[in-house]
Amino acid sequence: MKVKFLGTGTSQGIPVIGCKCDICLSKHIKDKRLRSSVYIEKDNYNFIIDTGPDLRQQVLKNNINKLDFVLYTHAHRDHVSGIDELRSFNFIQKKAISAFGNYQLVNQLKKDYSYIFSGLKYPGLPNINLKVIKNQFEFNGIKINPIEVYHHKLKILGYRIDDFTYITDAKTIKKNELKKIDNTKILVINCLQIDEHISHLNLEEALKLIKNLSVEKVYLTHISHNLGKHNNISELLPKNVNLAFDNLSFSL
Ligand SMILES: [Zn+2]
Ligand SMILES: [Zn+2]
Ligand SMILES: [Zn+2]
Repeated sequence: MKVKFLGTGTSQGIPVIGCKCDICLSKHIKDKRLRSSVYIEKDNYNFIIDTGPDLRQQVLKNNINKLDFVLYTHAHRDHVSGIDELRSFNFIQKKAISAFGNYQLVNQLKKDYSYIFSGLKYPGLPNINLKVIKNQFEFNGIKINPIEVYHHKLKILGYRIDDFTYITDAKTIKKNELKKIDNTKILVINCLQIDEHISHLNLEEALKLIKNLSVEKVYLTHISHNLGKHNNISELLPKNVNLAFDNLSFSL
């Protein structure tokens, strides 16, 4: 299984438009962050988690020419608003693309993108087969285990696929859901900034959560310019914890 970070930034990305802070002005490539998403290749299938507003350039930059399905975490714009770009894959693959999320996500997408899901099919529309998932399921032989986490009061999903777990936009995770993460080799989890935030883990909270889990390696993602420069923050982290950066990839 191969994993690549297509983006590791929070909703505004880095640099933030008009911001003159040190991080936004940094020339370092690791301080440039598109909106959060990962691309995964497994058993000849390609899929992504979330379709944010930067999807088009992420797909072009990484030469992704085939996409079999999408896993959605939640319906906030920084995670879904690239949804129209999926039609390019419809044109190439000549079939609908499957997408999965919880009830809240499916409901919200059907409202917000009613032209896609109204049932009226006219040429040029994305063709997406959107399904609600609750428990572990198998698609194309790939076992996918959704993990329910709280984004303030909103129930959203993280995903575990084999020994890889991806969680973004979490603030709290209940004990029984945390168990699903145990013994994962690689955990990706969100870490917004230094200061506390109502709906996202900050650095202190993310590190506290990680400490109580048995995982080999952790990557922090969904990063704001308020966290700090990549290299400065990296120095402060425990050995098995790393800041993710755009285009970082690994196999497991
Ligand atoms: Zn987000
Ligand atoms: Zn800034
Ligand atoms: Zn969100």
